[in-house]
Amino acid sequence: MRLDAAVDLVGGGRLGPGLSNAYDGNVYLLRGDGGAWLADTGSGLDQGVLLARVEEALGGLPLLGALVTHAHADHAGGAAGLAANGTAIVAGPLTAELVRAADPGQLGLTAALRAGIYPAGYRFAPYPGVLTPAEAGLEEGPLRALPTPGHSADHTAWLFTAGGTTYACTGDLLFSRGRIVLPGAGDADVQALRRSLERLRAARPDVLLPGHGTPVMSDATWHIEQALSAFELGRLPGSFH
Ligand SMILES: [Zn+2]
Repeated sequence: MRLDAAVDLVGGGRLGPGLSNAYDGNVYLLRGDGGAWLADTGSGLDQGVLLARVEEALGGLPLLGALVTHAHADHAGGAAGLAANGTAIVAGPLTAELVRAADPGQLGLTAALRAGIYPAGYRFAPYPGVLTPAEAGLEEGPLRALPTPGHSADHTAWLFTAGGTTYACTGDLLFSRGRIVLPGAGDADVQALRRSLERLRAARPDVLLPGHGTPVMSDATWHIEQALSAFELGRLPGSFH
């Protein structure tokens, strides 16, 4: 699904566009210099559907790699399958450790399976070759990692600038209309989330590409402010769920 000249929405399940497996978070394709990047990898279930959409969106452009926002399975579970297909995987240092080991307890997957969030028998395949932003040269420049803990301790947003527009791949940090998700279990931290939203605002993105729901193609600051103004009033921002 073409969003503009630089970005396609190529995957996403029930909580998003229904383009790929029901359990997938949104997957975006970003066209940069010399090729394209994926933002997030989906769950790994029915990955052929996602790969077909990626191929179509690439239209012959080389795929340079896939960026991961955090190690929850709907965003990172597809990393091993993409890597087996020859795609480099880049994630923040904590996410990289989690995906390398793929320990269901550390990933929060044991609790999520118990809660019925993933189908019974779902497995998160480890991928030992994950690169950190430093190893991939993505700490600065037109594509760069922005550490954004809060939804989870390992969360990273990705900033991408093309044609004078700055896109923020926000994973589960922020959704349209300033909504958030604070998981009840695991390593969520509401004060860290607030500081991460302030860091996102300071990066002045034009477009928000969230991990679920609707992309925000203009006026990104308004959506960030919706969340921050709730904090300023002593309330929590609305929940995406
Ligand atoms: Zn998450």
